[in-house]
Amino acid sequence: MRLSAAGIELDAVSVGGLETCIQVPSWRLAFDLGRCPPSAARQRTVCFTHAHIDHMGGIATHLGLRDLWRMPPARYLVPGEYLEDVQALLALWRRLDRSELPAEIVPVAPGDVIELGRGRRVHVFRSFHRIPTVGYALERTRQKLRAELVGLPGEQIGAMRAAGEVITEEVCGIEVAFCGDTTAAVIDREPLVRRAKVLVLECTFLDEPGSHERALRSGHVDLGAIAERAELLEAVEAIVLTHFSARYHREQICGAIERTLPPELRARVQPLLSEPPWSHPRSDKVTA
Ligand SMILES: [Zn+2]
Repeated sequence: MRLSAAGIELDAVSVGGLETCIQVPSWRLAFDLGRCPPSAARQRTVCFTHAHIDHMGGIATHLGLRDLWRMPPARYLVPGEYLEDVQALLALWRRLDRSELPAEIVPVAPGDVIELGRGRRVHVFRSFHRIPTVGYALERTRQKLRAELVGLPGEQIGAMRAAGEVITEEVCGIEVAFCGDTTAAVIDREPLVRRAKVLVLECTFLDEPGSHERALRSGHVDLGAIAERAELLEAVEAIVLTHFSARYHREQICGAIERTLPPELRARVQPLLSEPPWSHPRSDKVTA
């Protein structure tokens, strides 16, 4: 589903336990590949948060599609803990597929900064899930017209430039942060999350009794935990909530957001609602 958050286009699908893939087309980058939507094959860089199947199961399809369409080798950022196994997985697929399927695998750890060129870099931070998990923050440095020159006529600015004056200044900011699967502790502990223009945050559970405990036990976020952190999220321009459990209908999600989140926070939140609704085979049990 295409959506726009604080002026940044995303192409996103995310249902807890089923699949997560958040594409940022302007970066030619995706977070996770639970299954690989064909459009995600266009994204050369894929930042994997952890190795649960609903976040990594689509890696072979991504490799295969890029090979089929003769695109340059993908670049996979993978938490270091999974490096050997991911290499072995891809080696098996190459054997099975009897093709080269080239890819660059970059092991990452919290604190790493990966330069992508043209003023773009990826920060890696720690998330808090049942298995080793990282989040990513996309930071971009760009040249902007100096604040005091905004609004001046174009000819005047042109003349200043011609006279050798510096008319731009460097601005730098976190455009998108994606936490993967995590508890809400990531909001408390990670400044990059709180500084992001767009925060893509999982919200596996809503607000029914016991959902907070269930979220903590399984390493996920519930809506109440986000409401409690409204103040910490003041600087974030747009929050996209993802990874809702497959048991919830869209009306339940929208209703819970309405009654749980304070209005000031709610105004900046958009839920990623899946279409068509997913049916959960056992509505009493969720594993994500
Ligand atoms: Zn997971």
